[in-house]
Amino acid sequence: MCLSGCTPREKPKGKSAKKCGGTTTNCSSSWTVEDVKKIIAKTDPQVIEAICNGKINIISIETAHDKWRYNDGRVEENEIKGLAGNTKKGPKEIRIRESMKNEQAAKTLFHEMGHMTRPQSTTRDEGLKEEIDVRVETEEFAIRQGMLPTRKGYRTADGKVDRTFIENKILKSKHYNPKGRRRIGRRYAGEKHTAGWCPP
Ligand SMILES: [Zn+2]
Repeated sequence: MCLSGCTPREKPKGKSAKKCGGTTTNCSSSWTVEDVKKIIAKTDPQVIEAICNGKINIISIETAHDKWRYNDGRVEENEIKGLAGNTKKGPKEIRIRESMKNEQAAKTLFHEMGHMTRPQSTTRDEGLKEEIDVRVETEEFAIRQGMLPTRKGYRTADGKVDRTFIENKILKSKHYNPKGRRRIGRRYAGEKHTAGWCPP
């Protein structure tokens, strides 16, 4: 999963953001398949090949909502505004928020493919380690791409990935370590199938 700290998400600008999806090509406030593909292929063409060979379904979403059950029985649903992307390994689905720029969407897709190509984690600790590993790889991708650090602290003074910093962020994150509540569901809004990732 790619939450804030994996790829900072920009707020949609104006009304146009709603009309722009991953499938459109003439939209400035949202990513396009063509541009995201081009960015990733510049440094990591094997990721695009893996999308095609693995028949991964890339879906653009407007937003997502998590449903939580608290220890006192109360159920609450919250929009996860910081969610940039998500991976479902079983059905081979990757979801990418549509209101992001091409560069952010490329980084998010790289991140989610990092999850997709790993086996399903079986314990919470395994899941957390996977998120840390994928974030480190994503930051290495960002360095290859000449992108700025994803977050302050993600890189050391000599421009390398600061794994210890990322590790501490995840291990202390309330989202990844919920207390007093349990996630019981998630739904996505504004799902759109995207095409054009692979040669016909
Ligand atoms: Zn992730």
